[in-house]
Amino acid sequence: METTGGNSRRLRVGIVGAGLGGVGAAVHLIKRGHSDLEIFEKSEKPGGVWWDNKYPGCGVDIHSHAYSYSFMKYPWKRTHATQPELQQYVEDTIDAFDLRPKIHFNTVVEKIIWDDDRDLYRMEFADGSAKEFEVVISAVGFLINPKYPTWPGMDVFKGEMFHTSRWRSDIDLRGKRVAVVGTGSTAAQVVPGVADDVAELKVFQREPGYVAPKNARAYTDFEKFLYNSVPGMARLSRIRAFTRATIRNRGFDITSTRQRLNKEVCVGNIVNNVEDPETQEKLTPQYAWGCKRQIESSDYYPTFNKPHVKLVPRAVTELTEDGIIDTDGTAHPVDVIILATGFETTKYLSSIEVYGENGLSLQEAWKRRAAAFVGVTVPRFPNFFILYGPNTHGGYSVIAQLECAARVAARAVRKMKRKGWRRVNTPQKALDDYMAWLDRKFATAGSAMLADCNNYYRNEAGDNVTNWPLPNIHYSYMTTVRPYFDLVGTPGRAGSAGTAPVAEAELSKEPTS
Ligand code: NAP
Repeated sequence: METTGGNSRRLRVGIVGAGLGGVGAAVHLIKRGHSDLEIFEKSEKPGGVWWDNKYPGCGVDIHSHAYSYSFMKYPWKRTHATQPELQQYVEDTIDAFDLRPKIHFNTVVEKIIWDDDRDLYRMEFADGSAKEFEVVISAVGFLINPKYPTWPGMDVFKGEMFHTSRWRSDIDLRGKRVAVVGTGSTAAQVVPGVADDVAELKVFQREPGYVAPKNARAYTDFEKFLYNSVPGMARLSRIRAFTRATIRNRGFDITSTRQRLNKEVCVGNIVNNVEDPETQEKLTPQYAWGCKRQIESSDYYPTFNKPHVKLVPRAVTELTEDGIIDTDGTAHPVDVIILATGFETTKYLSSIEVYGENGLSLQEAWKRRAAAFVGVTVPRFPNFFILYGPNTHGGYSVIAQLECAARVAARAVRKMKRKGWRRVNTPQKALDDYMAWLDRKFATAGSAMLADCNNYYRNEAGDNVTNWPLPNIHYSYMTTVRPYFDLVGTPGRAGSAGTAPVAEAELSKEPTS
């Protein structure tokens, strides 16, 4: 049992998910002296999306030194890491901080239920067992549930069909006629990833994305020496990557000069790399840059110059026994359909039932709009922290975003221990003010995300529930400074049952940044 300041109440932390978020949260807790934690992972291995996604060409399009934990320097081999390297990075982080004994693999969390009388959560698992935790951190990820189309004829197609995040390595694509449906960041990797194996490749595009050059490459021996052996060089490279992204992100303001410049870079990428003028035109987006997530690739466009690769700039209307019918009524006979159709993004935490004070369900609280204070805490769900929560996607490096949220949780746990608090909760007013601030940012600095295109950011009511409108640095500010003022502690004496009086509330001021 861990005690702080004479408070003998144990603070057990249950973390759901051993992806980049869950592992990062555990390290931030340990760094603040709290090791009474357990991690529950549904898969047989850690890594989250980097375990799920193993399609050919899979890797990250963020610079390696930025797509790294702040606490885990790594001898990256390339400017942009590939999926196997990223999986190894997670495994190495786990071992560096001796987390493996704390992780329960193949363990599915089904319910998390707050006990109002005892100030703790009961976590229930698919195998019927349960555990109790005073604090819960959800790190279940965001791009995890595949979005499957509902075309007529899905059941009559006689070939093979699978989603990119459920890659079928048992299916040999060599010599096959293959269709890739979708043209997002995943398709931009999988299309060049499979093109040289297949007999014929058709890429079905509903609406093109903006694609900037990625310029990924292996580090030279000199660069490896520089980054791994010369103090400060990897950090400098990290700062440079974040600075460049911060400048690029100014383009999310639809009225900015940077919006025009970002567009020009992406359109130039088409003109420089696609030979056929008609294909060039079909690949050119007709909406604001930043309305969809920017794709980064240097090998996607050149793939369309290969004689056996064709862009079909039309949606799929139905499947037949032997292939695809598009919106023109053209039939495309294919052997394999690869669904690069993305993920269910707006239904946060839909795979787990979470209940807070007075039995309130999280899905009920989020009926109109998924919303969390700085993306992390929800009023009436005490001691519950969310990583990769509503409106935290984006910025630049998701690891940086996850670490900011992890710090909020870890600091709150430390404060609970020091002050003997039994609950930390967020006032509704703090969340309302925060959401109003976010919406103002979407109307200005993030206006491109509300422009007229298909994107996965908006819920049925049209609110952007997924994205952070500003660069990472602003999220770092919001999560470092604001929660100290906005989280309200409910102190209780050591071992006392029930709810103690609310502490003098350090109530929120409206965020101004
Ligand atoms: P996505 O960006 O949501 O793209 C899905 C694609 O499928 C879009 O082109 C979409 O068309 C199309 N689509 C969806 N439903 C369809 C349907 N019923 N019929 C025809 N087309 C359909 O998904 P994603 O490419 O998997 O990427 C998701 C996110 O994952 C990215 O934005 C990024 O955040 C992350 N990601 C990151 C990396 C990385 O390197 N860091 C790599 C891959 C993915 P519309 O555009 O018309 O909707």
